[in-house]
Amino acid sequence: CGIVGIVGREPVAERLVDALKRLEYRGYDSAGIAVIEADGALSRRRAPGKLENLRARLSQDPVDGVTGIAHTRWATHGVPSETNAHPHVAGDVAVVHNGIIENFAELRAELAADGVVFETETDTEIVARLLDKHRREGLAPRDAVLAMLQRVTGAFALVILFQDRPETLYVARYGPPLAVGYGSSEMYVGSDAIALAPFAQGISYLEDGDMAIVDRDGVEFCDFSGAPVARKRQPLQLSS
Ligand code: GLU
Repeated sequence: CGIVGIVGREPVAERLVDALKRLEYRGYDSAGIAVIEADGALSRRRAPGKLENLRARLSQDPVDGVTGIAHTRWATHGVPSETNAHPHVAGDVAVVHNGIIENFAELRAELAADGVVFETETDTEIVARLLDKHRREGLAPRDAVLAMLQRVTGAFALVILFQDRPETLYVARYGPPLAVGYGSSEMYVGSDAIALAPFAQGISYLEDGDMAIVDRDGVEFCDFSGAPVARKRQPLQLSS
């Protein structure tokens, strides 16, 4: 439902939750964040219900780190619960997703036949499992994302964080909106300009069929075959 990501220089956990708060008007049943901590760990905190529950979880069990992703979920596949809340993690990769992966059941059956064990009832988990499989096969993060995008069908805004790429977010869009925000020394991604308004000075919207690789210094756009595309940077203006 709501997506935010920061590739930053300052701690992100609180800023991610604040940004989700600005997307609260859209409705949600659970929320979560994943960050790469200073010691290199990929850490995740999730909670069902209100964002205050996630804040409480974070104050009991804080995370540090300057790169992270966050999500408010509006369940389509799998009951609202902590287990089904995003981010979904498989191996060293964390994923948040808006939309529906239409062919998740057949992909899930295929991976299950290879011995992959699924932890959730969501359509989204297949994205994390495919990425983990491609990484184990030896693909670099960018190639793993492109390979995953060849397999999934449906509607998606995806933001992906790899533990071994602590300064990069990989994002893709087919359907639900997704934008990249430009800061002075940080970069952002979000499902809605409102989420990025306090941070970003400029914004580029992904088009359907776009992937983007976002690091602290900028962004590179390509299509799902990896061929470069150019996307305009616009001033971030909110009409309200
Ligand atoms: N289909 C996904 C799920 O049920 C994402 C839902 C959303 O857009 O929040 O977990």
